[in-house]
Amino acid sequence: MRVAINGAGIAGPTLAYWLRECGHEVLLIEESLQLRNGGYTIDFWGVGYDIAEKMGLLPRIGELGYQVREVRYVNRHGRKSGGFSADVFGRMTNGRFIELRRSDLAAAIYGALDGKVETLFGDSVARIKDEGHCVRVDFDHAAPREVDLVIGADGLHSRIRRLVFGPEAEFEVSLGYHVAAFEIEGYRPRDELVVVSHAVPGRQILRLSLRDDITLFLFVFRDEYLTAESPSSEQECKSVLTNVFADVGWECPRILAAMEDASGIYFDRVSQIRMDRWTEGRTALIGDAAACVSLVAGEGTGLAMAEAYVLAGELRNCGNDHVAAFARYQERMMPFLRRKQESAAKFASSFAPKSALGITFRNYVTRLLRIPFIADFFIGRAVRDDIKLPDYRF
Ligand SMILES: Cc1cc2nc3c(=O)[nH]c(=O)nc-3n(C[C@H](O)[C@H](O)[C@H](O)COP(=O)(O)OP(=O)(O)OC[C@H]3O[C@@H](n4cnc5c(N)ncnc54)[C@H](O)[C@@H]3O)c2cc1C
Repeated sequence: MRVAINGAGIAGPTLAYWLRECGHEVLLIEESLQLRNGGYTIDFWGVGYDIAEKMGLLPRIGELGYQVREVRYVNRHGRKSGGFSADVFGRMTNGRFIELRRSDLAAAIYGALDGKVETLFGDSVARIKDEGHCVRVDFDHAAPREVDLVIGADGLHSRIRRLVFGPEAEFEVSLGYHVAAFEIEGYRPRDELVVVSHAVPGRQILRLSLRDDITLFLFVFRDEYLTAESPSSEQECKSVLTNVFADVGWECPRILAAMEDASGIYFDRVSQIRMDRWTEGRTALIGDAAACVSLVAGEGTGLAMAEAYVLAGELRNCGNDHVAAFARYQERMMPFLRRKQESAAKFASSFAPKSALGITFRNYVTRLLRIPFIADFFIGRAVRDDIKLPDYRF
C-alpha cells in the first residue's frame, strides 16, 4: 500500500518503520524544515521501550540518554525540602527506564529508517479527498498524490484531525496548566543527573543538566497566571515567563536573565485529546493527534510508539484490509489510552499544587518515597502498563 504519514515526530517514523518492514510504500511529511531539535526531555519506559528494543534502538537510546539519580525539591533559598531517589524507576522497570530529549528519541527512530523512506520536509498535507478506493492528497507545496491511506501523526494540534474529524476545541481537554521549556548553555550551578525543582503555589520550575554544558529548564504554571492571550512569538513567551516567575525566588532571577539568550522555546497548553473514534474512511490518527495524554502522564512517546506498532501490526494481520485493521487498532488501544488519560488527569492537581499546603504535602509524600516499599508501591503503580502488546510477526 501507499501510505502518507503527516508528522515526523515519534509516532510517524515509528509507523513508517513498521510499515516498511511489511513492504509498504511510505511517504512522511513534516512541516519543519528538518527534524525538530531541543525542546524538552522525556522519561522513557514501558511499552515504548519494548518497541524501541524490537527496532534495535536501545544501544543508541542508551548513548543519548541519562540515568537520573535523584528528584530534589528545593525551597526559595535552594535548601532541600523534599524529593526521592530515582533508583525506584529502575527497580520498578527492571532497569528499562531512561531520560532523554524527545528530539533525540525522534532522531533515533528516524535514523532507523536508514534514509529509505521518502520525507517531504517543510510541507504538510493541506487537503484530503477520500475517493473510496484511494485518497487524493494535496500538500502546501508539493504536487498532489494519490495514496491508499493517510495517517495523522502530527501531534497535539494535528491538522489531519482538524481536516477530517473537526475543530481541535471539540477534542481538547485542558488540564489547567501551561508549560514552557528551553535550553541554555553554560548555566551554573549544575547538579549532574539530578532533577532540581522549586514550586510556589500554582507555579513550578525545574532544571536538569545535560551533556555539552547544556541545562534544560521546564516551567509549569496554572492557567490563571496567563493574564492575556496565549503568546504567539518567542519574545512574547519570554515576557510571559518573566512576569509569571519573577517573584518565585530560588534561582529564578538568574534563569530568567539567561533565558533572554535562549532560542527554540517550547510553549503550549497542557491538554489531552479525547476522541470517540480515531479513524474515518481511509484516514487514521496515531500518537498525540489521536489521544494526547499530556506531559503529566510522562509516557506519551511510548504510547505513541505503541499505537504506531499496533496499527502496522493489525494492517498486516488483516491482510491490508484497512477497515478491519482500523477497527482492531482502535479496539485494542483506545481503552488503554483512556485509562492512561484518566490517571494523568487525576494526578494533574499535584503536578504544580495550587496552595502552599499542597506543596508541603507533596514534599512530605515524596520524602516517604525514600522508604523502598512505599516507593515501589506508588511508583510501581504509576509505571505499570496495563496492556500486553501482540508480538506481530513482521
Ligand atoms: C513538556 C513535555 C514533557 C513531556 N514529557 C514526557 C515524558 O516524560 N515522557 C513521555 O513519554 N512523553 C512526554 N511528553 C509527551 C510526548 O512528547 C508526546 O506524547 C509525544 O511526543 C507524541 O508523539 P507524536 O509523534 O504523536 O507527536 P510529536 O512528537 O509532537 O510529533 C508531531 C510531529 O508532527 C509535526 N507536525 C505538526 N503539525 C504538522 C503539520 N500540519 N504537517 C506536518 N507535520 C506536522 C511536528 O513538527 C512534529 O514533528 C511530554 C510532552 C511535553 C510537552
